Amino acid sequence: MNAADPSRPVGLLAELTHRCPLGCPYCSNPLELDPRQHELDTASWKRVFSEAAAVGILQLHLSGGEPASRRDLVELVAHGAKLGLYSNLITSGIGLTQMLVSKLAEAGLDHVQLSIQDSEPRSADHIAGYKGAFARKLEAASFVTEAGLPLTVNAVIHRANVRRAGAMVELAVRLGARRVEIAHTQYYGWGAKNRGLLMPSREEAEAAIGEVEALKTSLSGTIVIDHVAPDYHARYPKPCMSGWARRTLNVTPSGKVLPCHAAELIPGLEFWNVADHSLDEIWNHSPAFNAFRGDDWMREPCRSCSRKTIDFGGCRCQAFMLTGEARNADPVCHLSPHHHVVETILAEARDDTHPPQPYAYRRLRPSTAVRRERLDISAD
Ligand code: SF4
Ligand code: SF4
Repeated sequence: MNAADPSRPVGLLAELTHRCPLGCPYCSNPLELDPRQHELDTASWKRVFSEAAAVGILQLHLSGGEPASRRDLVELVAHGAKLGLYSNLITSGIGLTQMLVSKLAEAGLDHVQLSIQDSEPRSADHIAGYKGAFARKLEAASFVTEAGLPLTVNAVIHRANVRRAGAMVELAVRLGARRVEIAHTQYYGWGAKNRGLLMPSREEAEAAIGEVEALKTSLSGTIVIDHVAPDYHARYPKPCMSGWARRTLNVTPSGKVLPCHAAELIPGLEFWNVADHSLDEIWNHSPAFNAFRGDDWMREPCRSCSRKTIDFGGCRCQAFMLTGEARNADPVCHLSPHHHVVETILAEARDDTHPPQPYAYRRLRPSTAVRRERLDISAD
């Protein structure tokens, strides 16, 4: 594929804001978060959605941060519905009142994806860095199902909750979810910063995989389970983003358009902004989108590997983070000459000789009131 390839994106991830009341240590948002005053205004987001529909995008994922932090959320959902876009709200549940959910449903919202941090309330609140988050999420789930909206529960797995992967699936069933996504942590943004504290052992990860796979069979017909395996423990890398700039666009709160949410960590890439270019121009001509399209950029062993059309050499961001060169094979791959880097990380993650450190919670700039509430929690 190259710049002239006629294929179209199918999904737009609209990061409406980086504001979020929670502080999940695995959050994939960048360490440098966009402040409120840099966020696109309502009219700009509506124009972006219109341009997305014009280039053939079908799915609109409203994300963040916490998208309910935006006062114009209902208006944005209504605009997406008017354009015929399938809309999915990706939310922490904090800030979702019964009234807001009902208005979103009336405005044409199609689907809600609600995150949970654990099946145990105290641990869930600790991971979220927010006392009372678990209870508010259960309430939010009931608002969603009562409004007749389909609910997916999303649970990110890491060392603190890896033994309860099955319990989180069972919680999703009790909440009335039609789907649950059990996704092992991806180490980007805040997740990369907290990697040593989040990484489970191989034994823990494999036990969780076995538990969830067994539930796929026993709960067949009750709930659909999507299972994202832990890639550091795999033999081959994930087909990241289904290939660079092949399927989706990601618009940051300030309007930068990225091929994936972590792409800004790769130095030297030039990202265009919706304030200066249309989505169509960006998709076809932005230097960042064309940087890793096709396979001309690939090095060995990917270049001559039969799997390069299956996994696209893995993740460019992970290759850069772990090897210093984005064109290398993702070192998760056992064929990569840099695979020893991943093996070392796995060994160090379980080195219990180091005293445990507190999480670096994902924070924008907490207000005094919120900070007080967040700090009133403990790990035990
Ligand atoms: S992962 Fe947690 S901190 Fe990050 S946006 Fe989602 S709810 Fe907020
Ligand atoms: S060598 Fe490259 S293309 Fe082949 S399996 Fe590994 S990452 Fe994928």
